[in-house]
Amino acid sequence: MSERSVPLLDLQSQYQALREETLKAIDETLASGQWVLGPRVQAFEEEIGRMVGAKHAIGVASGTDALLLSLKALGCGPGDEVISPAFSFFATAGAIANCGATPVFVDIDPKSFNIDVRSLEAAITDRTKAVIPVHLFGQSAEMDAILKLCGSRKIGVIEDAAQSIGSTYKERRIGSIGDTACFSFYPTKNLGGAGDGGMITTNDDQLAETLRVIRVHGAKPKYYNRVVGFNSRLDALQAAILSVKVAHLDGWAEGRRRNAAGYDRGFAGVAGIETPPVVVEGRHVYNQYTIRVTRGSRDALVAHLKERRIGSEIYYPYPLHLLPAFSSLGYREGSLPVCEQACQEVLSLPIFPEMTTDQQGYVVETVTAWAKAQ
Ligand SMILES: *Cc1c(COP(=O)(O)O)cnc(C)c1O
Repeated sequence: MSERSVPLLDLQSQYQALREETLKAIDETLASGQWVLGPRVQAFEEEIGRMVGAKHAIGVASGTDALLLSLKALGCGPGDEVISPAFSFFATAGAIANCGATPVFVDIDPKSFNIDVRSLEAAITDRTKAVIPVHLFGQSAEMDAILKLCGSRKIGVIEDAAQSIGSTYKERRIGSIGDTACFSFYPTKNLGGAGDGGMITTNDDQLAETLRVIRVHGAKPKYYNRVVGFNSRLDALQAAILSVKVAHLDGWAEGRRRNAAGYDRGFAGVAGIETPPVVVEGRHVYNQYTIRVTRGSRDALVAHLKERRIGSEIYYPYPLHLLPAFSSLGYREGSLPVCEQACQEVLSLPIFPEMTTDQQGYVVETVTAWAKAQ
């Protein structure tokens, strides 16, 4: 029996590599006494803005809040429809409902797992106020076609870039294309903090100003509240930790891409295992490496991997339109078939940058042997 094991993600080894630098940054931040917003958050905002090629970057409490505040800043509320793919993390749709608008779910492209542009076009009505394309798993959505559909109709475009920091679409960097782009620093993202955190980037001066005001209760100046906003700010401690990590992001993305190429080679020609193709011109940063299991039971493979101490996760087991939270919207099974099929077949494998060749070999070997037995 093999003693090998491969976790889905290895945050401890990343921390150990940066421990001294991180502890120093934490100590300096604590000693400064400026713990909410302040110079560390501002420096980190400027760094992210430069990195993604956006004029403004606004640190907020989470990726979910980045979406919610973007929706609010674009004026979305009751009576408005906001379109989202039905294959995403819950937050994409939760934010729409929480701003008072109605989520409208559309299907995905079976290859990229991203929003299907024809479904999007068919779902647009005169109530459509915004669209949230999700750059799922690290690969950009088809932004040219989306911008073309939305631009002429004055529909806002909010990019859900929570899984795609550092990725590109053609020559453009994710974070500088839509009206706003929303990033998450949740620990499992490619740039993860030691807790929650998020960022909104935009090239629109007016939107940036609104976002800065609504993250502090709508107050400007202090105690003079122009609108009802939120308490949604990035902590200085998170900014300090993330500032240490951001210098490594590019190298980590390259590690993920190398691991993805290793899986692509390893699973080539294995019947019943479909690897995720790169369908958009640009840089895929592989927050997840998500295969489709098309022969045998996907859930049996999950159990098989668990027994052999290999981490895996189903992102996502349920399509958003069929979740109980959205039952009042009236979607039925079969209404978005490509999403529904994906939820039955997908499985994400370990892709973290620190994974060794030996660990990856073990994953490939184990999955392949299982597939051949089906
Ligand atoms: C993680 C994630 C979010 C939410 O980010 P949080 O920081 O956890 O609030 C939103 N959308 C997608 C696609 C995500 O993966």
